[in-house]
Amino acid sequence: MKILRLILGDQLNSKHSWYHNDEHFTYLMMEIRQETDYVKHHIQKIACFFAAMRAFAEMLKSNNKKIIYITIDQEDNQQDLSKNIKSIIKQHRIDKFEYQLPDEYRLNQQLIELCKSISIPSESFDTEHFYTSRDEVSLIFKGKKTLILENFYRIMRQKHQILIKENAPEGGEWNFDKLNRSKYDGKVPIPKPLTFNNNLLYLKLIIENQGIAYFGEINWEDVIWPIDYKQSEKLLDYFIEYCLPNFGTFEDAMTQKYWSLFHSRLSFAMNIKLISPKEVIERSCVYYESNRDKISIQQIEGFVRQILGWREYMRGIYWMKMPEFEKLNFFDNNRALPLWFWDGNTKMNCLKHTIKNSLSNAYAHHIERLMVIGNFASLAGVHPDEVDNWYLGVYIDAIQWVEITNTRGMSQYADGGIVGSKPYVSTANYIDKMSDYCSNCYYGKNIKVGERACPFNSLYWHFYERNKAKLEKNPRIGMVYNILKKMNENEKSKIFAQAEYYLKNIDSL
Ligand code: FAD
Ligand code: SF4
Repeated sequence: MKILRLILGDQLNSKHSWYHNDEHFTYLMMEIRQETDYVKHHIQKIACFFAAMRAFAEMLKSNNKKIIYITIDQEDNQQDLSKNIKSIIKQHRIDKFEYQLPDEYRLNQQLIELCKSISIPSESFDTEHFYTSRDEVSLIFKGKKTLILENFYRIMRQKHQILIKENAPEGGEWNFDKLNRSKYDGKVPIPKPLTFNNNLLYLKLIIENQGIAYFGEINWEDVIWPIDYKQSEKLLDYFIEYCLPNFGTFEDAMTQKYWSLFHSRLSFAMNIKLISPKEVIERSCVYYESNRDKISIQQIEGFVRQILGWREYMRGIYWMKMPEFEKLNFFDNNRALPLWFWDGNTKMNCLKHTIKNSLSNAYAHHIERLMVIGNFASLAGVHPDEVDNWYLGVYIDAIQWVEITNTRGMSQYADGGIVGSKPYVSTANYIDKMSDYCSNCYYGKNIKVGERACPFNSLYWHFYERNKAKLEKNPRIGMVYNILKKMNENEKSKIFAQAEYYLKNIDSL
């Protein structure tokens, strides 16, 4: 019996049980325009996906697996997942088709349709990557009105016995978030980010000759992201030794001097499944156990929460709420993305820094994505489709299941409160508290009106005023409306006029 097994570009899990015994199997991988073109991607994202896929195929080949790899420039490549699979089934007289469950809704639908349309049997398999199944979050919250990360996270900690001692949370608390909000003080040295100097020049001409649209910067001979298991493992070890001891403390800090601070930069490796969340968490916890003098509980707990908590939780919400989720626009926003999102050329120092960094490295850390870029897009009322497409394109780790729940959900509140209980918006005050951006900005962090007024300061009040009917009753926001009510009418109208001026001239901010 000839069995064809599909491996998608984000299914590079070399430890999958598929590869234990595979006499009858032919593996299929493909680079297709369907995937390079559904949104305009950062060039590092396209290059690293192709490089990691090719390295994975080579690894399988060297383990004597039979593999068909369709390159993007191959003549008979039909550039469409279903068409290519159908033609391989015919050409190789395949008897059965097998695939691992995709993490993206659109691919899941496409494969279901494909299986209905072929005359041979098919079967789907788990990716053996996540802690949870697709429907675990929805089962946990069945019958509940609201979803709460903290509840889910505690269940996960207990279920998987992570940082649990004698049936209680290690350190006496489930969550040390309150200790994880320090501004970077410049005292603790920040480790140099571990980069991989991957030479991907061989892909440059191939991608360019195809005419694939892309944006962002790349140094083809020195690409920084991990593209195989070994590099991912090295990145994890480096993180554990040099970054984890300060990860929690400075998790929310931002600085223009260093682009990744103490963050792991493991999201790309994990999202394409080069390395599993279990391996990341287990190895971090083992190191913590034997290095308690160096690593406090607040550091390891903060890290575990991001992966065991947020990452799994977002995936569960995605499968619970798709496909409706991708159409949600709670505030009926309709503004276009400001043009400087594509080059970072704005006088706002925080946005200039974070966008330019995103364009150079295909990366920004969480608080930059949430409280600088996403914050501005929310305050300006940008259409969530525009925001999603930008985030989905620009970040190396952006795959819809984790991008859209964070962007449309957590950051833009376009879901009306499914992911978060209130919008993540702020004035310059929060940005200044957590960063060093404001000290050398064209705009004044304390100014609300006038030429040098920080745009966040007036747009913040404008946001709450224009969305009053939708937000006023939210108990977590009541205070904002109390302040607005008490604000001097004259001052209020000046602030709103300033915000409207900025919205009209958004491309020149
Ligand atoms: P670290 O700070 O080292 O954290 C460790 C790991 O925790 C990450 O690698 C990631 O796997 C996980 N994690 C942390 N926060 C989250 C979260 N909120 N949701 C899911 N996993 C989390 N993450 C993506 O992987 N892909 C995206 O497309 C993406 N888009 C985002 C868009 C917005 C608007 C926001 C606010 C966040 C987004 N995130 C996304 C979550 C988070 O910002 C990134 O996972 C993180 O910045 C990746 O860098 P890191 O590996 O250095 O993370
Ligand atoms: Fe950003 Fe305003 Fe601070 Fe400038 S002053 S860096 S625009 S928050």
